Amino acid sequence: MSEPARDLILRAVGLDRSFGGIHAIDDVTLEVPRGSLHAVIGPNGSGKTTLFNLITGHTRPHAGRVEFDGHDITGMSYSKVARRGLAKSYQITTVFPLLTVFENVRIAAQAAAHSYVFWRPADGIKAVVRHTEEVLERTGLADERHTIASNLSHGDQRRLDLAIALATSPRLLLLDEPTAGMSPADTAATIELVRELNRDLTVLMIEHKMDVILSIADTITVLHQGSTLFEGTPDEVKSHPEVQEVYLTGSL
Ligand code: ADP
Ligand code: MG
Repeated sequence: MSEPARDLILRAVGLDRSFGGIHAIDDVTLEVPRGSLHAVIGPNGSGKTTLFNLITGHTRPHAGRVEFDGHDITGMSYSKVARRGLAKSYQITTVFPLLTVFENVRIAAQAAAHSYVFWRPADGIKAVVRHTEEVLERTGLADERHTIASNLSHGDQRRLDLAIALATSPRLLLLDEPTAGMSPADTAATIELVRELNRDLTVLMIEHKMDVILSIADTITVLHQGSTLFEGTPDEVKSHPEVQEVYLTGSL
């Protein structure tokens, strides 16, 4: 009955979701071992964001189940899932544009800190500020702490997205195309940051650009028209003829 061989932080089994006549996700199973950097790639429209939304509770699956850290979270709202330690950073930004970088990160840290108990409120505030400083350092935003979010460069706005997700101290971080619209320099810096974050947290990253993840992912799942076309190491994906075909022509 049991197969406790692998320590999975996330297990999505037989997920299925349609929108009208479009079968966006068709019986997809995804297993993410704790500590790994797992990427989901696929052409535009292959179902990546839908899969992501099924995992985070933004979209209800029509079939299948999602387990996070051994608990069934299928159909649970994102706020509940987030409290259990799963955070996302979206293609669409969640930043408060008129607040500073520091305030944006502090608010996220504060929201997550309600689960800690402090003897005095002042200790709680200090801990939140300390944690905010740490996150700004880690994400390379310390120098921009007083900048109003809407005045940041595009690259720094995406970094702020990531910082907000990190401020909640997640155990699993989901990233949907973190390098979308970035310059090559910002893309390289973001990939380096993701690699660094993966040292102490599991990352599930959705990406359209294949070259971006070949250098950092442990395992890559290739989606095509809502189904898993292939799953393997970057080398296996690189040399897989069908994957090449899908990427070159958009179809098989
Ligand atoms: P990707 O992120 O890989 O580009 P998506 O998951 O966004 O792909 O989309 C997969 C398919 O599902 C597409 O055909 C898209 O048009 C469709 N789809 C996604 N979300 C919705 C929705 N809310 N309503 C209708 N169709 C949707
Ligand atoms: Mg998408």
